[in-house]
Amino acid sequence: MPLETLKNCPVCNASSFSNYLNVEDYTVSHKEFTIQQCNACYFLLTNPRPPAEEIGAYYQSEEYISHHDESKTIMSRVYTSVRNHTIKGKVKLINELQNKKGSLLDIGCGTGNFIQACKENGWHVNATEPDSGARAVAEKRVGETVSETINAPALHNKKFDVITLWHVLEHVHELNETVTWLHDHLHEDGAIIIAVPNPQSYDATEYRRFWAAYDVPRHLYHFTKSTMKKLMEKHQLKVMKVLPMWFDSFYVSMLSTKYRNNAVSLVNSAKTGLLSNLKGRSAKQEGTNTSSLIYIITKK
Ligand SMILES: [Zn+2]
Repeated sequence: MPLETLKNCPVCNASSFSNYLNVEDYTVSHKEFTIQQCNACYFLLTNPRPPAEEIGAYYQSEEYISHHDESKTIMSRVYTSVRNHTIKGKVKLINELQNKKGSLLDIGCGTGNFIQACKENGWHVNATEPDSGARAVAEKRVGETVSETINAPALHNKKFDVITLWHVLEHVHELNETVTWLHDHLHEDGAIIIAVPNPQSYDATEYRRFWAAYDVPRHLYHFTKSTMKKLMEKHQLKVMKVLPMWFDSFYVSMLSTKYRNNAVSLVNSAKTGLLSNLKGRSAKQEGTNTSSLIYIITKK
């Protein structure tokens, strides 16, 4: 399958990159991909990458469980229990951000667990999900129409109080177009919540090329606090706050240990996950530094 090579940095448009890390696609193709770093703004991107029309093939895996509901393997059982716990925290977060229950758009809603919880909590929910199977499950579960993409006519003239992207932005080919869309569809006093893996976390530096959250080539970008801030500022948006995402550390560490050792070691991964959380919390100079981070973003 042919790959496409970005000649210019999606964040700063510079055209000079250095190779940063070669990483295997552990879940689907087992091919190696290169993560490059922009020499001007230090943005990390998977480059070259499968083009948008080819990327679907890289999601064809039983192990790519975010689109599935059944809890078969030990990984997916842990994932499910973490997810249920995490959803409560996410609903609490949006309620803290807005003092009214307004309109919420969840981009990439998967099978709809989060929007279901928001709806039950009094939010008016909208959602998108590109995977047709997951979309059907979400529509049935929530009783709302879920659009395939943000370009659906149903969303054209709408504005939202909260837009959420839980582990979605790192998958989007049209990065700048998407962030422009977010800006244009957010109410003046609205907030965008973007959760992405943190390649500067303790577990990322511990596992290096085995770090599961590189997840190439599905993750096209590997945002740091600095590059996220630059990207948002380019689009007249502002990172107001960076919050830790505690539970991701354990899950990511478990997968990373599996990739490194070819076996699941719950003890070792729990240890690295815990260390990642402790170090993420105690890293006072850099602030929050867990395996994944939640960015709270508003208009400038
Ligand atoms: Zn750059």
